[in-house]
Amino acid sequence: MKIPPTHPRYTSLMTREKLVRAWKAGVAVPEGLIAHGRGEAFDYLFGEETSAPALVAEKAAAAFLVRGKRPVISVNGNVAALAAREVVHLAKAIPAKIEVNLFHRSAARMNRIVRLLGTAGARDVLGPRPDARIPGLDSKRALAHRAGIHGADVVLVPLEDGDRAEALVRMGKVVISVDLNPLSRTTMMATVPIVDELTRALPTVEKFVKELRGDPKEVERISRTYDKAGNLKAVYSYLGWRLKGLMKTQQHRGR
Ligand code: ATP
Repeated sequence: MKIPPTHPRYTSLMTREKLVRAWKAGVAVPEGLIAHGRGEAFDYLFGEETSAPALVAEKAAAAFLVRGKRPVISVNGNVAALAAREVVHLAKAIPAKIEVNLFHRSAARMNRIVRLLGTAGARDVLGPRPDARIPGLDSKRALAHRAGIHGADVVLVPLEDGDRAEALVRMGKVVISVDLNPLSRTTMMATVPIVDELTRALPTVEKFVKELRGDPKEVERISRTYDKAGNLKAVYSYLGWRLKGLMKTQQHRGR
């Protein structure tokens, strides 16, 4: 379908097209399309903008990634389809390893995603030959690399499911999530939950990484003072404020 650039929802429709194409190419799975719809719904509520509390979480995430000894970025089908370039840029800036980690895992899909990341400039992407298991997860969902997610001290898990995020936290890792759902189990479980849209969040974290790389004192200060509960409270009150604003607009229109 050709989407006219003048369409008021052009960007959002193009993103959907990208995902549908990724599904046809065997990169994304139908479940990923459903998950995207859930994200879109929450982004409407956020006004499709990065909130101030999300910015705070993104800066904290950058501090934890910079201070990490073995940081890893986890990539699934939707992340590869929507933000392969952003992942590669962020991984280079930190620097961090990239591991493809699939809920619906098959060798063919794994190889397609590794190739896609390679085209975006990634080298030595982990995922195809796992040599370890994440405790507490069943079957293929547990597979990981010792040199990657399994051995990492800090893991960035964009669009992760709650179970796996929880299992990584149980292993003692600093888990940074990107998930627009402020109520998801992933957001609840993560050490640093970023409640923001993927393609806005990753470049913002990258910008903060570049800023913080040369400032170890600030990195220590941010990671010491980051307050997850306080930050999530701020996300909820931002949503409340947005909804109140929308209520007022409707009242004016009704007059
Ligand atoms: P959980 O298991 O964490 O409770 P879930 O079952 O919703 O949540 P998934 O089905 O893996 O987990 O969904 C991934 C999450 O990613 C969804 O909560 C959705 O809101 C979010 N999401 C989808 N697309 C984006 C995006 N582009 N940016 C940020 N978040 C997104």
